[in-house]
Amino acid sequence: MSRVIEIVEVTPRDGFQPIGPWIPTEVKVDFLRRLAATGLRRIEIGSFVSASAIPQLRDTAALVEAAAALPGLRPQVLVPTARRAEEAVAAGARFLVYVLSASEAHNQSNLRRSVAQSVEDYARMLDALPADMELRINLATAFDCPFDGRIAVEPVLALITRLAALRPDVEICLCDTTGRATPDHVAELFAAAMAAAPGVAAWAYHAHDTYGMGLATTHAAYREGIRIFDAAAGGLGGCPFAPGATGNVATEDVVWMFERMGIATGVALDALLPVARDAAALPGAAAGGRARAALLGCSA
Ligand code: ZN
Repeated sequence: MSRVIEIVEVTPRDGFQPIGPWIPTEVKVDFLRRLAATGLRRIEIGSFVSASAIPQLRDTAALVEAAAALPGLRPQVLVPTARRAEEAVAAGARFLVYVLSASEAHNQSNLRRSVAQSVEDYARMLDALPADMELRINLATAFDCPFDGRIAVEPVLALITRLAALRPDVEICLCDTTGRATPDHVAELFAAAMAAAPGVAAWAYHAHDTYGMGLATTHAAYREGIRIFDAAAGGLGGCPFAPGATGNVATEDVVWMFERMGIATGVALDALLPVARDAAALPGAAAGGRARAALLGCSA
């Protein structure tokens, strides 16, 4: 087992998404530049979605162009449909994250269609994509749904098996959208998923820290062999279904934990802290995490 992990920085997408006050494109580009300078290589820079549904991300095409000019970066963008994937490709995106939910209620609420329709649309997208496109599936509500509560393991495995059969050489990220997953649940689902779909190229975990479980579940996934983790600088990313709740597990907390364990993250914590502080200070941001305040003192 390697003593190296990879962090996918999601503040520019998951973190900025719920922020009401407009963040100017040049401010977002400056965050991308500063995040990249900390050693972060994978950054989720935005999503191709309806501008009326998520106005904050309406400049994603401009960010794709700006990110292409940053050396060494592997920027990824979220797409909820094959049609939006076409838009992303036309804008120059090279790494797509196709999102669907494990629970019917969340898929209907989020994407206005059934899980089966999302799977069909995913198959259409695969047919239409350029062959060299990098691909990840984000499986939202893989553990828990804001409407349906805890999600049973078996139907999630069935869905993963169907998706993997369509194309195995993708990365699959299991997302704890509500932050209500516990370490044992995360370990159980990853172990079962890897056994059920052994051909999947890579697995990733997306933690939310709503109940303070972000680091605990991230570590549980690590112990199951997961080496790719989503995290958000400043702990941004409040859930629209839980006003006031904190968001994704903070990147600085994840870096601090793994580096203390002797596991390399490739991220310079001292360079990340001021970026995380500035992200947390954005007007309208719901910030989270602990390491920032502990390491920067009151100024955080
Ligand atoms: Zn999230």
